[in-house]
Amino acid sequence: MFFIGCDKNSLVYEEIPQEILFSCIDYSKVTDPNFDSDDLYAFWDIFVADAKCSMTSNPDYDKLNTEVNIFYEYESDALFASGQVLDYGAYAATSCDDSRVRVGIAFRYWSDINIWQKLGLMYHEFGHDVLRYGHSSNPNDIMHPSSPFASTYNGFIESKNRFFEKKFDGLRYLDCSWYEDYINGVSEPDLPHLLHDCSIDHN
Ligand SMILES: [Zn+2]
Repeated sequence: MFFIGCDKNSLVYEEIPQEILFSCIDYSKVTDPNFDSDDLYAFWDIFVADAKCSMTSNPDYDKLNTEVNIFYEYESDALFASGQVLDYGAYAATSCDDSRVRVGIAFRYWSDINIWQKLGLMYHEFGHDVLRYGHSSNPNDIMHPSSPFASTYNGFIESKNRFFEKKFDGLRYLDCSWYEDYINGVSEPDLPHLLHDCSIDHN
């Protein structure tokens, strides 16, 4: 803010609007009252379009992934009755299979976060499932396992730019060597790696 004048009764300040960061995707539709933020596939469409214009290889993940399943997970009645909740925010189940996307979202967690955090969560899971990213060590990054996601437009844009440019601390990839052996019938599935749970502390 800067001081531009005063009158008898009050100082008058003018807000300098914060710079709106550029993105090749127009996100205004997600803040439109008509946007259905419970439609998880809408987030897949945004991610696909964003990857296409943000990544230097211009991938078309919609064509590469012929099977896309994104769904909610709910507490069972028994779990709910015992006062507990699901111990993860979301998970990606087909990280090593480049033709499929399978992502589960804990509905309770989804309902607690705002639209920029929802985008961060979906990009996190697609980061596992599509880009084979592991978890990063930087709490500001989309791929950090337990940090709250950026809750503002600019915060989301900054972190998703690093995400697509592969410029974030502790970037590592999931080990999918077991998967090749598994689909070739040489070994059993590596169950600890099959599901990639992401416990997300959002409090
Ligand atoms: Zn994760």
